[in-house]
Amino acid sequence: VKSIGVLTSGGDAPGMNAAVRAVARTCLNKGIDVYGVMLGYKGLHDGQFYKFNRHSTRNIINVGGTMLKSARFPEFKDPKVRQEAIEQMQKVGMEALVVIGGDGSYHGALELTKMGVNCIGIPGTIDNDIPDTDYTIGFDTALNTIVDALDKLRDTSGSHQRCTILEVMGRTCGDLAVNAGIAAGAEIIITSHTGFDEQKVIEQLRLSKASDKKHAIVVITEHITDVQELAKHIEAETGFETRANVLGHMQRGGRPTARDRILASRMGIKAVELLEEGKGGLCVCQHGEDIVAEPILTLFEHKRQVPQGIYDDVLKLR
Ligand code: ADP
Repeated sequence: VKSIGVLTSGGDAPGMNAAVRAVARTCLNKGIDVYGVMLGYKGLHDGQFYKFNRHSTRNIINVGGTMLKSARFPEFKDPKVRQEAIEQMQKVGMEALVVIGGDGSYHGALELTKMGVNCIGIPGTIDNDIPDTDYTIGFDTALNTIVDALDKLRDTSGSHQRCTILEVMGRTCGDLAVNAGIAAGAEIIITSHTGFDEQKVIEQLRLSKASDKKHAIVVITEHITDVQELAKHIEAETGFETRANVLGHMQRGGRPTARDRILASRMGIKAVELLEEGKGGLCVCQHGEDIVAEPILTLFEHKRQVPQGIYDDVLKLR
């Protein structure tokens, strides 16, 4: 392969820049031309390409967000639109593509591969909701952001003897909530895996209050319930003054942690190596200490394994 493009797509995640940098440097070291594609699949379609040199990815390994920007571009589901994108790539001789994003972006990468353009996916999402990889790029940074927020909430929750609810991201994946909950010593953790029974939550908090606990922290994944309503119900039924907080997009920003930078850097190298071997339709995954490749297609057939061990441990910490 003589020329590769790299883009970031879907929701941004800290560490995406480190992955872009690794792709660029690996290509340049191998004498492969490398283009940064702006705005995800939208920029691919519109031909917004920048040829990278040694300096293009300078000073970005430590920066959150994505220098290539990201965009949602549902039009890319249309084969005609994808064909137009391929024509833009051909204009500059771009033969293959590294796609850094979530599962939606992987669908686009697979479709493009089917049309003759080899694509490799790199899991860039804070949610950790991609099957077959231990971790996604951005998860560790977001987790630390949440723990930091919970530590701050603990201070004020303790001072005012309140129950504090924090809603965190993850889409349907509970990994952020369960890990942050353990790290910050939450009283109750609610995810799609634990299920949500409001009466049980209230009962548990009532028991805590009765056992002279002065404050409590509840961590819950987004899309499970209206946390403001939950706060009202807890307050009415337990006597705990309760405040709900939604952490929101703060979780998507910030300086990537060392772990995210290392993961992103290693995955970027792997993606280029796979394209060099003439492979496509694969995504890069972390298995223990190893960076490996899996077919995107089989990944869609798998459900993300719930880390049961950590949920067992949550119960032991009650
Ligand atoms: P994420 O990659 O974070 O899951 P999205 O689901 O928004 O984010 O997907 C990102 C982009 O990937 C979409 O805006 C669209 O351009 C492209 N995409 C998503 N699904 C498909 C699909 N089935 N076919 C082609 N492209 C897709």
